[in-house]
Amino acid sequence: MSVPHRALIVVDVQNDFCPGGALGTVRGGDVAAAVSAHLRAHGDDYTVVVGTKDWHIDPVGHFAPDGVEPDFQDTWPVHCVAGTPGAEAHPELDESLVDAWFLKGEYTAAYSGFEGHLEGAEAGLADWLRSHGITSVAVCGIATDFCVRATVLDAVAAGFAVTLLSDLCAAVTGAGGAEAVTRMKDAGVTVV
Ligand SMILES: [Zn+2]
Repeated sequence: MSVPHRALIVVDVQNDFCPGGALGTVRGGDVAAAVSAHLRAHGDDYTVVVGTKDWHIDPVGHFAPDGVEPDFQDTWPVHCVAGTPGAEAHPELDESLVDAWFLKGEYTAAYSGFEGHLEGAEAGLADWLRSHGITSVAVCGIATDFCVRATVLDAVAAGFAVTLLSDLCAAVTGAGGAEAVTRMKDAGVTVV
């Protein structure tokens, strides 16, 4: 049975965040396949399915300078450069199941999908969801401890009821992922 007014937000399931990528998480590829399987089985639960992409052109300060080690908190190896294979959705994520893509981070670091805009347009994610009547969102993707966390907390701040699909997330580190889940629960997020 269809449950209206609910969106799924699939965060940054991109090649560079999966094994073999510039900033690969161990479980990234598994998450890509699992999200596709979830949508094939439960797609009717969602009014719309949104994907986000880290999409860098010149994200000032986000990439570690040449010759400097990234700190993996504020600076990172070069990743998800707009238009490159690393920025594309992982091939195991069935893009036909995604209704709209939101791009973020062209000229600045952007961890939250709510900092993004509709591909080829200017609409922000919160306004776009509201325009589709969405009042609750489920969130999954990569990485639990960074972009998923930021997207979830912004969704709460924007007034949406939020569920984290924890089995459909990949973390950079286990400890970081666990800490992020605790932070999300404290913010009132339902974690399943
Ligand atoms: Zn980035």
